[in-house]
Amino acid sequence: MKKLIFITLCISFGFGFKAVSQTVYSSPKGEKYHTADCRLSGEAAPLKLAEAKKAGKTACEVCKPNELGKAKLNQCTGKTADGTRCKRMTANTNKKCFQHQ
Ligand SMILES: [Zn+2]
Ligand SMILES: [Zn+2]
Repeated sequence: MKKLIFITLCISFGFGFKAVSQTVYSSPKGEKYHTADCRLSGEAAPLKLAEAKKAGKTACEVCKPNELGKAKLNQCTGKTADGTRCKRMTANTNKKCFQHQ
C-alpha cells in the first residue's frame, strides 16, 4: 500500500514540474512545436519551449502550444481499459485527451 502512495506522489510531482517548466513537443527536423495532445506531433521529442523558440521553431496552429500556459489543464475524464481514470492532462475544453475524444 505504501508503494502505491509513493507512486501517486511521483506522478503528481511529475505533473507539477511539467506545468512550471513548459514542455513542448517537436520532431528533430520539424519546424513546428506542439503540445503533447497534438495529433500532428508524430515522432516528437519533448523539449523546453524556450529551446524550441531558440531553434527557430514556430507554434503549431492546430494545438496552439503558446496558449497552453494560459489554458487550464484538466485531468482527462476518460477511463482506461482497466476501468481506472485516465491520467493524461489535457487543455481541451471537453476535458478529454486525444485518446478519449
Ligand atoms: Zn500541433
Ligand atoms: Zn484520456
